[in-house]
Amino acid sequence: MATVKLFSASKSAKSLVQQFVRPTAVTLIQARSRWKDVSVPDPSMEWKDITDRAAKSAFWTELVKGFALVFGMLFKEPATINYPFEKGPLSPRFRGEHALRRYPSGEERCIACKLCEAICPAQAITIDAETRADGSRRTTRYDIDMTKCIYCGFCQEACPVDAIVEGPNFEFSTETRGELLYNKEKLLSNGDKWEAEIAANLQADYLYR
Ligand code: SF4
Ligand code: SF4
Repeated sequence: MATVKLFSASKSAKSLVQQFVRPTAVTLIQARSRWKDVSVPDPSMEWKDITDRAAKSAFWTELVKGFALVFGMLFKEPATINYPFEKGPLSPRFRGEHALRRYPSGEERCIACKLCEAICPAQAITIDAETRADGSRRTTRYDIDMTKCIYCGFCQEACPVDAIVEGPNFEFSTETRGELLYNKEKLLSNGDKWEAEIAANLQADYLYR
């Protein structure tokens, strides 16, 4: 009796498995065996299609269509720009060439706190500092190895006085590696050159920082 009960229990368990598991397995197999033929189909050999193809070849319709397309594009606004005479728009957050900024008085903003040096993940920044006679700290050396820089922007984010920034200039390719080892003079001159653009970008983005 016990054997019969065990048999019927195993039977009902099997039907349960068939009910719930099998359809899923079948659906999976069906989904995996579904495929799509993407090869170019053979040309139709119907008379109508044969004569259509012959007419297209005889009257060069594809060529005429191509010329019409080119002629039509002459009167449309081009999708490209005439770089380097024209340049596309840049986000205020664009991270380009580095610059050290000054206050309007001409005094350097940098207070030599070295936060930028500490946070730089590429260890591209080297700073030496001294205390001036008036008690303020200023850098005696501020180098950025632009060949190491990954343009992460962390230095700019870390700076408490907005001294080091990544400006909008992206055209600073050089012919030698040595030209990419920026010193303090180079960075300050970048700041002087791009101050108007940098200030406008910081102003445009200040609510999000
Ligand atoms: S942008 Fe990043 S990698 Fe480059 S100097 Fe600043 S912190 Fe270093
Ligand atoms: S640039 Fe900014 S973060 Fe770096 S040392 Fe100067 S004040 Fe500090």
